[in-house]
Amino acid sequence: MKEFNQYINGRFVKSTSTEVTKVINPCTEEVLSLIPKGSVVDANNALDAAQASQKGWRSLPAIERANYLNKMASIIRENRVFLAETLADEQAKVIGLAQVEIDVTADYFDYNAGWARRIEGEIIQSDRQKEHIFLHKSPIGVAVGILPWNFPFFVMARKVAPSLVTGNTCVIKPSCVAPNTVMEFVKLIENIELPAGVLNFVLGSGPVVGNALTKSPITGIVSLTGSVFAGQKIMEAASQNITKVSLELGGKAPAIVCADANLDLAVNAIVSSKVIFSGQVCNCAERVYVEESIHDEFMERVAKKMSEVKVEDAFSGNNPDMSSMVSKDQMEKVAEMVEFAKKEGAEVVVGGTRSSQFDKGFFYQPTLLTNVKQNMQIIQEEVFGPVLPVMKFNTLDEAIALANDSEFGLTSSIFSENFNKVMHASQELDFGETYINREHFEAIQGFHAGWKKSGLGGADGKHGMQEYLQTKVVYAQYK
Ligand code: NAD
Repeated sequence: MKEFNQYINGRFVKSTSTEVTKVINPCTEEVLSLIPKGSVVDANNALDAAQASQKGWRSLPAIERANYLNKMASIIRENRVFLAETLADEQAKVIGLAQVEIDVTADYFDYNAGWARRIEGEIIQSDRQKEHIFLHKSPIGVAVGILPWNFPFFVMARKVAPSLVTGNTCVIKPSCVAPNTVMEFVKLIENIELPAGVLNFVLGSGPVVGNALTKSPITGIVSLTGSVFAGQKIMEAASQNITKVSLELGGKAPAIVCADANLDLAVNAIVSSKVIFSGQVCNCAERVYVEESIHDEFMERVAKKMSEVKVEDAFSGNNPDMSSMVSKDQMEKVAEMVEFAKKEGAEVVVGGTRSSQFDKGFFYQPTLLTNVKQNMQIIQEEVFGPVLPVMKFNTLDEAIALANDSEFGLTSSIFSENFNKVMHASQELDFGETYINREHFEAIQGFHAGWKKSGLGGADGKHGMQEYLQTKVVYAQYK
């Protein structure tokens, strides 16, 4: 069994707290590692180190900062199999998908390194003679990144890479549920000679370590990927020092399937989106609206496809579609939501219970629900599991209204072969992301941002990188 320590000011140090959290393999329920339940002192030590290294780091040419990101990318590629296995082990991500996450993370570091020579300001015309108005883009200072368990490695890069290239120093708080891959990465990059204090990792709970990192006056920006609830807590804590927040939160993605859709494509995309990583993906289809005239055929095909989903151990050589859910808590939450939906009148077409074929682990069956109504919990709240509720619609505007009737605004999708319909929907859907004739995943050069309760600000691409910059105006008068 492994043990991980805090990484503060360029070295691994023991937490000032002696309490520990066990990290569990969700398929086998064995304990994989022990991590400290970090303390407020740990959080503050990491912030002090990040602050002390700030001046030196921001004064380096951006291209030198970028070189470190390229080194991180190379190290990830050199250790890609080990990292993927660690990830699959700690969160039951099917090994093929775990490998994709590792490989995309390496690309993410390289992509952000590419911004080094492209961070630009502006020169604005003055109303005065002999004056230039310069807009400079400056780092914010110390950036705090708080990670979820579902894509813990990729989301780590989403915080670290844009922070460092723009000249911020950084403190990362991994999720207690899946911290191992991130901490193995920290060990691997120990020898790249990153200046001490530039990048720190503090393990511990959200309410203790996450809260301390958020409310400190040292912190310049907090970027969270997680639930709406954690986002609300972070906004409260950040209000103390008017600290900037960037929040990527939960979703309840609608998929609209029109009668003129390519049905094979729609069925395959929606089912695979729902079962990939057991539905624990923020932008996977969480509810489907299907046009009445094709409803029965759609349900028949989805039911067949969902019954054929291969559910196995994350390391199975049988190329499974999904594995265990990440934890007992997560599985029980999904089971409770399905039971509640049944009480409210939903009918189970496929699945609807925990998988009985496994002695160990937290496996839940791919589940298809019908007879659901717009006001039910299963349509309004994020399930974050392999559960697909389906409703009918008659007109596209009705479908758009149902899709928009949600407090979330992260992702949406529409399936239709009619250009006018998809363009209309893409403008009318109140979501930060709309996919036409496909489901997630997002591109690293795009912009991943939730509307409404799904978030504030966003990540990826040029606009995600710019989250970590602040603007200074210099009025330069000369004779
Ligand atoms: P979570 O909110 O339980 O935890 C996320 C992180 O926030 C953890 O590191 C946790 O320790 C920390 N945290 C919790 N309370 C805190 C507090 N008071 N102060 C500071 N930090 C605190 O979320 P999770 O269960 O790890 O992840 C699943 C959620 O994340 C889902 O809702 C999912 O939709 C969302 N998510 C969103 C995106 C996106 O890009 N929008 C991506 C992945 C996951």
